[in-house]
Amino acid sequence: MDESLRRRYLEAMGIQNWVERNGATPEPAIQQGPPEPIDPNPPDRAEPPPPVAESVPPWLQDVPPLTGEWGFSEPPEAAALEPVDPVYGLDWKGLEARVAACERCELCKTRTRTVFGVGDRSADLMVIGEAPGVDEDRQGEPFVGRAGQLLNAMLLAIGLERSQVFIANVLKCRPPGNRDPRPEEALQCEPYLRRQVALVKPKVIMAVGRVAAQNLLKSQEAVGRMRGRDYRFDDIPLVVTYHPAYLLRSPHHKSRAWQDLQRAVGMLQNRR
Ligand code: SF4
Repeated sequence: MDESLRRRYLEAMGIQNWVERNGATPEPAIQQGPPEPIDPNPPDRAEPPPPVAESVPPWLQDVPPLTGEWGFSEPPEAAALEPVDPVYGLDWKGLEARVAACERCELCKTRTRTVFGVGDRSADLMVIGEAPGVDEDRQGEPFVGRAGQLLNAMLLAIGLERSQVFIANVLKCRPPGNRDPRPEEALQCEPYLRRQVALVKPKVIMAVGRVAAQNLLKSQEAVGRMRGRDYRFDDIPLVVTYHPAYLLRSPHHKSRAWQDLQRAVGMLQNRR
């Protein structure tokens, strides 16, 4: 296009046509009109932010709004979780009182007394059995009677007095007729045992008998198959062995129980 004609078109559109000193013609600049006078007291030039709804990109618009104390909405899986059992916050005194008054399962109706547990509350070794029997129910102490005497002898064989270990059961109340604990009973009673373990902080746990081992390890295997394997309960090494009451009926298995005890001693030594 002829340069003079081009300039006339640009002037008619209000576009200044600057010419560089070297004669080159740059791109035309938009005509801004006459310069505005400078306001000595300019208003706040920061424009208010657009409403949040307008600033949310389309791919975020289905995300629920931030809520809650920390500004985060609760994830659905967290909302579905059961609240933490208050038993896990109890100290020894509170735990003992809670067990003594417990009515979480039907066994509270038939027990003579609860059997909390005895021994050193800072023991390296914690012995966990099944449930109180008739003697324990009367006396309020685990592992009394002939089975208790055999357990004491087993502990002495590895150099420990009964008072140097902590002894507890999966259930704190006696099942009538010495039947096996029912799953719902063990479930209701479990927080008490877990809290005891957390308070004692033993280096090794010894599960004595099928019911204790199966409940602690959530297993259906026989004791004979669980013996000699490495397990953990609440991250504490656990040894499985026979119940002293079983050993009274099957004394030929005492040699295996001795192996299990030596295994527990080895673990204790490794953790010192
Ligand atoms: S067995 Fe355990 S859960 Fe059941 S009443 Fe006794 S202490 Fe409570």
